[in-house]
Amino acid sequence: MNAPGDDVLLAVEGLEAAYGQVQAVRGVSLSVGHSEVVAVIGANGAGKTTLLRALTGLLPSRGRIMLGGRPVARPSPEETVRLGISLVPERRQLFESMSVRDNLLLGAYHRIGQESRATIEEDLRRMFALFPALVNRAASPARTLSGGMQQMVAIGRGLMARPRLLLMDEPLLGLAPLVIRDILGTLAQVQHQGQSILIVEQNAKAVLGLAARAYVMEAGRVVRQGPATTLAQDPAVRTAYLGGHVESAEG
Ligand code: ATP
Repeated sequence: MNAPGDDVLLAVEGLEAAYGQVQAVRGVSLSVGHSEVVAVIGANGAGKTTLLRALTGLLPSRGRIMLGGRPVARPSPEETVRLGISLVPERRQLFESMSVRDNLLLGAYHRIGQESRATIEEDLRRMFALFPALVNRAASPARTLSGGMQQMVAIGRGLMARPRLLLMDEPLLGLAPLVIRDILGTLAQVQHQGQSILIVEQNAKAVLGLAARAYVMEAGRVVRQGPATTLAQDPAVRTAYLGGHVESAEG
């Protein structure tokens, strides 16, 4: 399930990003195919968030980023949105006093005026179909929702941009197992509908059950990569990220 040739949506080569003297991403190369879910796993501080910040232009970077076969010369947050990359940020970053519905609509902000109101409303209905738990909370301020529901809003907001590529930063952090299962199920559903996703997570066990391929980051570098099922069986990955358990990484 590698992402060869024309199937590549995102191709990153030799990406470098630093905070002053702190080199946080060191020569990272990776790819995401069309309709593919790719995971980046790694411990706290491995450079996963920095990788996403570099890809979305929140942090300057060096290296090559290609989207749909075209170079992204100088990524900036505005350019990234225009190109069709949407980020679901770490810790959700919702507007807490705004309603669930309005938070979702914010994801489609750049589409307003470009597309009909009906199209955007239709997408909103699609989000409530994907996350039925949100239906009765549509008018509630986001701060009144549980962490799991807030994460659903953050994912829905990301999808409301109709992105070619959805980037997700630790979407499972701090969530209960049942909520994680729900969210993984929904992500599998959107992937089947054609959505490409790059997901960075410390919860390796959960994402290796969802992703087709994965990369392991340590100290800013990719140290391992391959099909998720292969990595889930890799003794070094098991010891470092899966608690050394011998059973399947799925579930
Ligand atoms: P986490 O799971 O904690 O988000 P991560 O894999 O996303 O970890 P990063 O947040 O990308 O890791 O951090 C990579 C490295 O960059 C770490 O050494 C971290 O201390 C450093 N770093 C992150 N943010 C900054 C910053 N704003 N200024 C300086 N150094 C930073």
